[in-house]
Amino acid sequence: MPKIKVAFLGTNGWYDTKTGNTLCILIETPHEYVILDAGNGIYKIDQYMKEDKPIHLFLSHFHLDHIIGLHILAKFSFPQGMTIHCAKGGKRLLNKFVANPLTAHLGEIKLKVKIAELGKKNPSVPFLEKQLFLHHKAPCLGFRFNFGGKVISFIPDTGICDNAIKLAQNADLLITESAFLPGHNSAEWPHLNPETGALIAKKAKAKKLALVHFDAAEYPTMKERKMADKCVKKLFKNSFAAVDDQVVFV
Ligand SMILES: [Zn+2]
Ligand SMILES: [Zn+2]
Repeated sequence: MPKIKVAFLGTNGWYDTKTGNTLCILIETPHEYVILDAGNGIYKIDQYMKEDKPIHLFLSHFHLDHIIGLHILAKFSFPQGMTIHCAKGGKRLLNKFVANPLTAHLGEIKLKVKIAELGKKNPSVPFLEKQLFLHHKAPCLGFRFNFGGKVISFIPDTGICDNAIKLAQNADLLITESAFLPGHNSAEWPHLNPETGALIAKKAKAKKLALVHFDAAEYPTMKERKMADKCVKKLFKNSFAAVDDQVVFV
């Protein structure tokens, strides 16, 4: 089984604070680099990506804290280029968002970027096992990856839903969002908290759980984040509240 490296480059939700950057996670396998969402943490990828393996960026949805880092791509010159995978309609949207007069257009920067919309008939790449829509204010995709037998599931912005549990089945590493503090919920703006993250992990029989996407207003300091860590560990033993620059191996 391959050893997979997971680097949490940005673990905040909504906006950057002293606790960290907005959401970006880098997965390194023996064959490829896979980036999950393009929050501001994406500025660090060149500290980790030293080989010329293919680079795939998966966007869960188009809320700004998940795509705000796309204008930073102009910094990079990876010779192999990058493929951005996103939901249908994303190509049109990104061509307007990462474009004049807001920033340099994706087509003009050094890095060669290709945008691939995820259709029903995916996989566009062999390691993407499944993508399903979650329960969020805007359509948001969750992903299930299988890297040579090691499964990593990514459940970003959502309230608790069946598709989250489907994606997480027996995952070696389940990464869920935890925008809300323990005990907090909202029907109008569905998000997870440490308890519901742990519940998904339990129901899906995941092996390890990482919490990310701590809403910057709910979690203003590391004190709240430590509270989330304590809370999630009580409910699901093999779990942690991730912090920026943390690296784990799966
Ligand atoms: Zn978000
Ligand atoms: Zn969102």
